Amino acid sequence: MHILVINCGSSSIKADIRDHFSGRYVAEMEIERIGQPDSLLTLNGESETLEGPLSHGDALGVALPRLLDGLSPDTPIRGVGHRVVHGGEKFSHPVRITDEVEAALDEISSLAPLHNPANLAGIRGARSVLPDVPHVAVFDTAFHATLPRRARSYALPHDITDKAGIRRYGFHGISHAYVAQKAADFLDSDLRDLRLITCHLGNGASLCAVEYGRSIETSMGMTPLEGLVMGTRAGDIDAGVLLHLQRHHGYDTEALDDLLNRKSGLAGLSGRTNDMRDILEQAAEGDEDCRMAIQVFAHRVRKYIGAYAAVMGGADAVVFTAGIGENSAILRHRIAQRLDFMGARLHEDRNREARVNRDNPVERVSTANSRCHLLAIQTDESRAIAEAASKLIMESDRLQDSRSIPVAISARHLHVQQETVEKLFGEGYQLTPRNDLSQPGQWAAEETVKVIGPRNSFPSVRILGPPRNLDQVEISRTDEFFLGIDAPVRASGDIENTPGIILEGPAGRVELKNGVICALRHIHMTPDDADYFGVQDRDIVEVAITGGERDLVFGDVLIRVSPSFALEMHIDTDEGNAANLGRGAEGTLVCTAGRATLTRRRTTYDTVTEAAE
Ligand code: ADP
Repeated sequence: MHILVINCGSSSIKADIRDHFSGRYVAEMEIERIGQPDSLLTLNGESETLEGPLSHGDALGVALPRLLDGLSPDTPIRGVGHRVVHGGEKFSHPVRITDEVEAALDEISSLAPLHNPANLAGIRGARSVLPDVPHVAVFDTAFHATLPRRARSYALPHDITDKAGIRRYGFHGISHAYVAQKAADFLDSDLRDLRLITCHLGNGASLCAVEYGRSIETSMGMTPLEGLVMGTRAGDIDAGVLLHLQRHHGYDTEALDDLLNRKSGLAGLSGRTNDMRDILEQAAEGDEDCRMAIQVFAHRVRKYIGAYAAVMGGADAVVFTAGIGENSAILRHRIAQRLDFMGARLHEDRNREARVNRDNPVERVSTANSRCHLLAIQTDESRAIAEAASKLIMESDRLQDSRSIPVAISARHLHVQQETVEKLFGEGYQLTPRNDLSQPGQWAAEETVKVIGPRNSFPSVRILGPPRNLDQVEISRTDEFFLGIDAPVRASGDIENTPGIILEGPAGRVELKNGVICALRHIHMTPDDADYFGVQDRDIVEVAITGGERDLVFGDVLIRVSPSFALEMHIDTDEGNAANLGRGAEGTLVCTAGRATLTRRRTTYDTVTEAAE
């Protein structure tokens, strides 16, 4: 399966064709100086001039057929992945491009005026050359859609932020997600069990705190201007400086834009160039401004690493990637100074000798006793785009004939231990099965108990059998308010740090210390079902529900896989009411929205809960 990946910048277009399964390059091209009197086309290593000036669409019209020409007819292009910098509020996953999506991207363009218009021009140009294959947009902002509110908010009044759509989005998400997964593979760990700090240090630069697989902080904001010192961008700056320049030095919007985006950063500090290699060379020859540029750059990265370690309560690894992160031992050395406090120790020899490339994409540069690993990892955004595009294409192929998933509404209920049964109903008491439930071996019991909260009580809540090894009370949000209790959204069995409650049966009362949860919506399935849907245990997916009065898509649905399960989605009564669901409702798996972060760490639940809100 061959996937074409197109990455259109303001004055250049990069495109490559890759074999989806091996990741091998089949063909590649680059067109530089788009919009100039002549453009430079490099096709599979051979360069030539194209007479212009050519727009993005013109250039693709000329060069794409030539790139495709050399392909074997046995392996045609199966799909096209386009890098799109800004997905705005609307696009938090890769999306199949239709005319409506194009129109929506057009609307978002004002959020990223330097990038999105070029991305869109590339999409239009490629769709006219390849109208019959699926085109997929993959967004730089999408990985950061999981930023919690506290991380995505600027401290400005709501009426202004709401009206002007001002919030932090974050960028380089394709790269951060890719190297985070590579780090987990290298460390032979599940990404869902790791706290990573990924440092994308290229001409544009950003950091990301990846907590158990999800981006929870990143240094770029509403635009790519916030955060680190970059090639030509200033990164963090006191907004008062801009007011000062406007009031006292005659800067207008255009002049500020030019200053902050094109004249600052390494270029501004060094007074020479935005290229870190040249800056390192000049610094070695004694240039004070270049030395200062390196110091400010490294200091800012280190400052962010410390901040992100604090945000996550520690880090299992720090990853260096992109041009500077992959190649500069000197910058890695400077940045990693004084990270001992978080257990990160650089191995100076390994760092100096590390060479990452296509054949050797990961190098560990920390010492053997470093609690926090330091890794240099080669990023490969084009491969990540190809993978995202092919995944979406294969998913939509599968969904064309996708099985539907029965949806059941769980009313409030209890799971109890045998010991608790005896305290409630008398010594030696055995529960009486009343009717079988859909999950094999599970049944509703004849017995009910009174559940007594601080505010109100339910006189008869049904027990489900057989008895388990813990006591758990599953209620809805509305029930919580009625009982006067604040229970978190949790997967079944995860009752650590949950509130308790009083149960009352004919033989006595039991005061539970914990065990009250609002169940995370979930789908039970067998390993065969999981293969069919292309998901794994603990994945988080989206499910479209049909059959109610209103069609609805539920996000944050947890996948639970076990050979003893039967395919069924469980939601609580509030959710069933919201969708106006009755018996016989069915859902269709829409997309896998990422990996669940269900480990036994408190902060993780907060993230899940916040995402679920
Ligand atoms: P982008 O894709 O954002 O244009 P890259 O990831 O290609 O950026 O990174 C470009 C930056 O990496 C430049 O500043 C370049 O000088 C720097 N770089 C590349 N190789 C080295 C190296 N060996 N040592 C130091 N810096 C390097």
